[in-house]
Amino acid sequence: MKYDCLIVGAGPGGIFSAYQLVKRAPEMKIAVLELGGELSSRKCPIDGERIKSCIKCKTCAIMNGFGGAGAFSDGKYNITNDFGGSLYEYIGRKRAIELMEYVDGINMSHGGEGTKMYTTAGNSFKKKCMQNKLTLLDASVRHLGTDVNYVVLENIYNELKDKVDFFFHTPVESIEKNEGGYLLKTAKGDFLGDKCIISVGRSGSKWMEKICSELGIPTNSNRVDIGVRVEIPAAIFEDITDELYEGKIVYKTEKFEDRVRTFCMNPNGIVVNENTNGIVTVNGHSFADPSKKTQNTNFALLVAKHFSSPFKDSNGYGENIARLSNMLGGGVIVQRFGDLERGRRSTPQRIEENTVIPTLSATPGDLSLVLPKRILDGIIEMIYALDKIAPGMANDDTLLYGVEVKFYNMEVELSDRLETLHKGLYVIGDGSGVTHSLSHASASGVYVADLIADEFNA
Ligand SMILES: Cc1cc2nc3c(=O)[nH]c(=O)nc-3n(C[C@H](O)[C@H](O)[C@H](O)COP(=O)(O)OP(=O)(O)OC[C@H]3O[C@@H](n4cnc5c(N)ncnc54)[C@H](O)[C@@H]3O)c2cc1C
Repeated sequence: MKYDCLIVGAGPGGIFSAYQLVKRAPEMKIAVLELGGELSSRKCPIDGERIKSCIKCKTCAIMNGFGGAGAFSDGKYNITNDFGGSLYEYIGRKRAIELMEYVDGINMSHGGEGTKMYTTAGNSFKKKCMQNKLTLLDASVRHLGTDVNYVVLENIYNELKDKVDFFFHTPVESIEKNEGGYLLKTAKGDFLGDKCIISVGRSGSKWMEKICSELGIPTNSNRVDIGVRVEIPAAIFEDITDELYEGKIVYKTEKFEDRVRTFCMNPNGIVVNENTNGIVTVNGHSFADPSKKTQNTNFALLVAKHFSSPFKDSNGYGENIARLSNMLGGGVIVQRFGDLERGRRSTPQRIEENTVIPTLSATPGDLSLVLPKRILDGIIEMIYALDKIAPGMANDDTLLYGVEVKFYNMEVELSDRLETLHKGLYVIGDGSGVTHSLSHASASGVYVADLIADEFNA
């Protein structure tokens, strides 16, 4: 099976590469090889009744398949260079923003029209944060919502499916450099491509490491973010969420001068399990559909951990902390803030009597047995700092779910074309370690597709 361009992974990075290649070079023969299934076939078996927690399916319906990790996400496209990745370091700040805006335009023309764009520009909240030792980061945020995000993906797939060959349930096992191109081996046969774009996301991190080592592509260790997901009554944060939808707020702890940040805020949303390489961690999302909204808002509080020589395996560190919570709780642990502060575990009865009703069925337990002291101290400090701008945040009944881990792939050494030392082999999206968001991953796909289309059309 011979193609002009092979794309590994059908997450936002892979999808937007394919979309842009079809648009710019319609004669190109393109195939997308994806480990998971079609969008319509993706269904997590957790139903809250018969199956309450993760049963560790062979292919995770949340992380793998058309739409990638973003398919059931909240669909928050942050247009900013302040967070979400370091794409701008490769392609420049202006170009990065232009591409994120371009992606937004495609989402709007494929079902996203009518969704709201929030912005921090000229926001009064910034001052209130500053006065309380908190920093509000600048961004414009398009909030599609889980439901509209799904519709957009469906529409893009319908547009692409006759122009691109999609191979689902086709994990790429290995990549070999071949004369004039790349040979991709799968259980369904070999694929040969002149060019190859790898976009395997976070779930493909281990595989990506293997490929880099086999092809002699240098990598650098990255950071890992560890923390908890907070769930509070939506009213407590509504001044922030009504105006900004998502406030990215950073706090520098007094004790250790560590940076703790809010991440992935979901007003009236739900807390969910996430499975990365068999380890269950916590995440969250929300729906645009008013009938699916809950009374709660959730967001993560994360502390970034960087390691210096000789330790390189930052993800391994995060995984082992998550494993500890899985060992104690059989999955995600939930604890009331009041119980954490009193040094006792939460029990099923205390959770039952809690005024904040959990949206995820997790095991009541004690997060202080899981999280390193320095990280936990930072989170507690930030909860009190947030309480000053959103009174009620530090209430006893505030729920903390753990652990939330943001794994970053090791950084693949890439040129300013996002090309490896092997010509024609590109690595984009979260799998490259360069991006860690929908907007940056999608923009990286458009960027590389433009370069490939330029060469093809020349
Ligand atoms: C629950 C949840 C909510 C989120 N919410 C947001 C949000 O609101 N805003 C935001 O900016 N980001 C969010 N994110 C993060 C966002 O989804 C990712 O940053 C984004 O999807 C990265 O895109 P990607 O294409 O690089 O990788 P992915 O989306 O991870 O896609 C990679 C694809 O490659 C496939 N793959 C892996 N290995 C192989 C292989 N060997 N062969 C073939 N295929 C392979 C995988 O199955 C997967 O489908 C969320 C993530 C989760 C899990």
